[in-house]
Amino acid sequence: MQTQDTHKQPENDLNGSSVADLKRDFLNKLFYVQGKFPALASLNDYYMALSYTVRDRLLERWINTAAIYTDSGARTICYLSAEFLMGPQLGNNLINLGIYDQAQQAVEELGLDLDALLEQEEEPGLGNGGLGRLAACYLDSMATLEIPSIGYGIRYEFGIFEQDIRDGWQVERTDKWLRFGNPWEISRPEWAVEVKLGGHVDHYTDEQGRYRVRWIPYEVVKGVPYDNPILGYKTNTANTLRLWTAEAPESFDFAAFNSGNYAGAVHKKMVSENVSKVLYPNDDSDRGKRLRLTQQIFFVSCSLQDTIRIMQVQDLPLAKFHEKFVIQLNDTHPAISIAELMRLLVDEHYMKWDQAWAITQRTFAYTNHTILPEALERWPIALFSSLLPRHMEIIYEINHHFIDDVRMKFPDDPDRIARMSLIDESGEKYVRMAHLACVGSHAINGVAALHTELLQQDVLSDFYALYPHKFSNKTNGVTPRRFVVLSNPRLTDLISSKIGNGWIKHLDELKKLEAYVDDIEFQQEWQDIKYNLKRDLANQIVKDYGINVDPHSLFDIQAKRIHEYKRQHLNVLHIITLYNRIKANPDIDITPQTFLFGGKAAPGYFMAKLIIKLINSVADVVNRDPDVRDRIKVVFLKDYSVKFAQHVYPAADLSEQISTAGKEASGTGNMKFAMNGALTIGTLDGANIEIREEVGAENFFLFGLTEQEVQKMSADGYSPIDYYHTNLELKLAIDRIASGFFSHGDPELFKPLLHTLFDRDPYFLFADYQAYIDCQHQASLVYRDLERWTRMSILNVARMGKFSSDRSIREYCEDIWHIKPVKVELNTSMPDNLSLKH
Ligand SMILES: *Cc1c(COP(=O)(O)O)cnc(C)c1O
Repeated sequence: MQTQDTHKQPENDLNGSSVADLKRDFLNKLFYVQGKFPALASLNDYYMALSYTVRDRLLERWINTAAIYTDSGARTICYLSAEFLMGPQLGNNLINLGIYDQAQQAVEELGLDLDALLEQEEEPGLGNGGLGRLAACYLDSMATLEIPSIGYGIRYEFGIFEQDIRDGWQVERTDKWLRFGNPWEISRPEWAVEVKLGGHVDHYTDEQGRYRVRWIPYEVVKGVPYDNPILGYKTNTANTLRLWTAEAPESFDFAAFNSGNYAGAVHKKMVSENVSKVLYPNDDSDRGKRLRLTQQIFFVSCSLQDTIRIMQVQDLPLAKFHEKFVIQLNDTHPAISIAELMRLLVDEHYMKWDQAWAITQRTFAYTNHTILPEALERWPIALFSSLLPRHMEIIYEINHHFIDDVRMKFPDDPDRIARMSLIDESGEKYVRMAHLACVGSHAINGVAALHTELLQQDVLSDFYALYPHKFSNKTNGVTPRRFVVLSNPRLTDLISSKIGNGWIKHLDELKKLEAYVDDIEFQQEWQDIKYNLKRDLANQIVKDYGINVDPHSLFDIQAKRIHEYKRQHLNVLHIITLYNRIKANPDIDITPQTFLFGGKAAPGYFMAKLIIKLINSVADVVNRDPDVRDRIKVVFLKDYSVKFAQHVYPAADLSEQISTAGKEASGTGNMKFAMNGALTIGTLDGANIEIREEVGAENFFLFGLTEQEVQKMSADGYSPIDYYHTNLELKLAIDRIASGFFSHGDPELFKPLLHTLFDRDPYFLFADYQAYIDCQHQASLVYRDLERWTRMSILNVARMGKFSSDRSIREYCEDIWHIKPVKVELNTSMPDNLSLKH
């Protein structure tokens, strides 16, 4: 890094990236930020010292980026998401800054181990799974592509719970991720805003004779922003993730309000702070509905007020809101922002309804993430009106205009109007958030080709008929920086040694690897890397679980949230089938296989928890039975998280993507596994279909019903018991469970699970059983030919270019956002004076 600034003192050059610079700065942080000297310092102090060292280098870019965006008034994408599953920051920031190796050497010279410091970081688990992780990958790509963007979300004090396994059951522990402080955030209390809740609405005419609305809330909550820098890969761009924390507003005079009731006042403060206290696990129960809706309006209102503040700082009129900002709604959790922006423009900034509505529609775009009916958000009218009385009025008004439009286009079709209305009036009344999102947005997208197709033909078909131009597909992607470069440095080095490192920013360049697919030496190196990764994971498994697994065996991994539609229990039926074959013929010749599972179940989702118990119960029997002779092993790896995912994906030979066709919107785990050289065994579901198209049918283990066959079977009446009676191996597997063989003789334990499988199972396990067993057998035979397997693995990686989140973000930019990159030049010198303007 060159500097011409002759005034600068060497000791002020804090941001050098040489090993010596990093060492000096590291010690500086240890002394003057942590306040420790080496004899007292803990591993965590060292982690913090290194993080602050890195943060300074980020801040330099962050400040420059903010200055350029402000000066240029750049068009900006606001990515609104109730979840951001960021994963640990230190390693990723070292990669993106391009100083990983220097940092490693610097800490080594100080007698420390970088891996141990990286392990110290408590990851911000501010998401449940795929949806939150997608938001995080998109932030990485937006910064890497130099796209001006702000992520807006909630700074949950407790993120996704930590999972423990006791006696085979999941046990949840609260996630105290902020316990030792968070070096990656900066609070901005000066930009705090207030959010109104409850109360009632007054309508009146002001002095000028204009119709006005005044919302008198029951309570007010203050939102304080915490900013997190999001650095692009080897760019100077550092965008912002702005997360809101709820506090009690000082403006509330508690003593007067509660007439001396101090405890009551403190209680009220606690109630305010509860708003951002905890992330809700995906749960099909109705628990915490009111607080959940409060969280949504809280972060949405804070974020929109923040965008208006930015307009004011940049001297832009609100009439140009949609030119300055485009707002992407990550599912319907932030969809209330459509009503909130209307409220801010009309009630607080006195804009005419029609103008405000035109701006609103041009501003918003909506991504749908699920077609599972139980996951489509809707709020009971009674709850909605009591918490958000003004938004309720606005939604009725939007609906009124909307229904007029529908009536015009489709006259005499009252059924259509009832189906499309923003209000579900079929029974108890509800607000339909997906409908609000469709009406208030100019673009609507699904997250994989099949998913978008199903939205258009099924779930949102009425909206597709009305607004065909709004719909498009944006297949999900993942960032290769975190999920290959950071998590799999050995594979990264091998790839770069052959084709250079351009692929890290242009993943399509992986295609060049195809030239090496027949190179015996390259194949051998590829195999060695996979073997070493498997051996490392095997060592970790012995250490953590006391179970020996053979790194030569086929590592078959299913790591994702536990859900019936993802069908971990189908995987278990295969394992039991293999076990039964061994019991029937102990000398049977089978490919040694290690089955690894990871994933959390929503705490209120009994069936998912029972599936975890089943996996562990089968593992207990299989791993100990001497007849098995270690040929198959089963391990449930606890506490699946981003950090853990980074360890697990690289060690997979076979990636399980076996959801019932039509149920998995896209999946992104499938992409992360394939990028690390795993072959996929999967159904024609979500992005699996596109992965198979890219890597070639001959390099993908396909099985199972298609989405159309599932539909048809569903309509014709699916009869699981027929499969049970006609498929002997299936019957044996089910009977093993039913007999209590895996539950110490207790036939009751797994009854609820078996009951759902026999009773019109909407996930069609029995119908797909034989195809899955056959496909698994095929995969296990191919694995015996290691050269063939390796070729397939290389081709999978070589053809994964499409699934970089950079490609997804480019498509959003071109088709929906209409945003172009803004280059950030690094001006390293500190200003000599502040040249204040007031
Ligand atoms: C990628 C990822 C997911 C999503 O996995 P799917 O297989 O697509 O369901 C969930 N959790 C974590 C921690 C991830 O990294």
